[in-house]
Amino acid sequence: MQGTEESLEQKSFAQLRPLKVSSEILATAACSLVLALANASQHISPWLYGYCLVAGIACYLTYRARTTRHLWLTGLLLLCACTACLGSLAIAIGNPIIWFLPIGLVLSLPVSAMHVHPWHALSTGAAIWATLFYVVQPSFDRQLDLTLTLILIVGSLLVATLVCTTFCHTRKDVFDLQRQLHGMAYNDTLTGLPNRRAFMERLTATLADDAAPAPLFFLMLDIDDFKKINDGFGHDVGDRVLVEVAKMLRDQSQGHNFARLGGEEFAVAARVADVAVAQELARSIVDAVNSSQLFGLSLSISVGLANHEPEESIFSLMRRADLALYDAKSSGKNRYVMAAQVVLSV
Ligand code: GH3
Ligand code: MG
Ligand code: MG
Repeated sequence: MQGTEESLEQKSFAQLRPLKVSSEILATAACSLVLALANASQHISPWLYGYCLVAGIACYLTYRARTTRHLWLTGLLLLCACTACLGSLAIAIGNPIIWFLPIGLVLSLPVSAMHVHPWHALSTGAAIWATLFYVVQPSFDRQLDLTLTLILIVGSLLVATLVCTTFCHTRKDVFDLQRQLHGMAYNDTLTGLPNRRAFMERLTATLADDAAPAPLFFLMLDIDDFKKINDGFGHDVGDRVLVEVAKMLRDQSQGHNFARLGGEEFAVAARVADVAVAQELARSIVDAVNSSQLFGLSLSISVGLANHEPEESIFSLMRRADLALYDAKSSGKNRYVMAAQVVLSV
């Protein structure tokens, strides 16, 4: 939607949050299930379910998160709880050394794609390994090859960082591409003004807002005798005139919905206090164009001004403004004309 300029951070957050919530629910459910299954064959300390509770709380916090930093911290809490849970379970069922590396690798690698900074992936991986060491280390004996283990841990941290960096770049490329496409779809290439599509979407949204505090006025604008400029001075001068008129319109219509509708036609939709303010806006645009000294040309613009009446459709509003513009042209140009009221059919 035009005007909603999301940042990469907001976009990444919107993408990652549902993914994280669902994967964390799955991880919590998997830990609980593993504990329940192990409990069926041998006695497992009920305290281990406390880790699942902490993981469940982390899921809820992820659901309530508002930034990617929150996501990182709640994910960290969940993964440490799951690591502690599985590490303790490995001790309880015996031979924890076999499970040491699989637990660390399975928990640290897949989540690395769900971070927005490589150091989030690195710190999460480091926290998982540290938790695992803390929980399992008292049960270590000489069976663990420390050199190989350290190589695997450092390797897994590097891979996690690399995966995260690659995903961050890809996410940024997609984001930049979407922004470019949005710009092309919603802006006029020549003048840089919003185009008809952007204008109509905003106008539709404005009219749907029943609680709007002020009346809406629609201005249809058309440069006078523009064909003569093209014919007399060339198309390139005509283009430059369009760019300059667009700048004036932007200056005069700050805070309102304005656009180049096509050709030498422009539009403004303004919510202002009353008709006097709308007329003042129309007059200021007419005066600005008329007093400009572009390339020594005598420029002018005509405006049809219509107020939006209750329940009136966009097309009726634009039609009335168009008819008023026609009146402005036929009564001498370089002026604005108020549109006639809606005629109610009986
Ligand atoms: P009026 O005062 O009644 O509005 O007359 P006009 O000459 O302004 O209007 P007309 O509709 O006869 O001519 C509009 C011209 O605008 C015709 C078209 O070639 C030209 N035009 C449309 N788009 C562009 C553009 O992007 N660049 C240039 N240079 N000319 C354009
Ligand atoms: Mg025209
Ligand atoms: Mg014209």
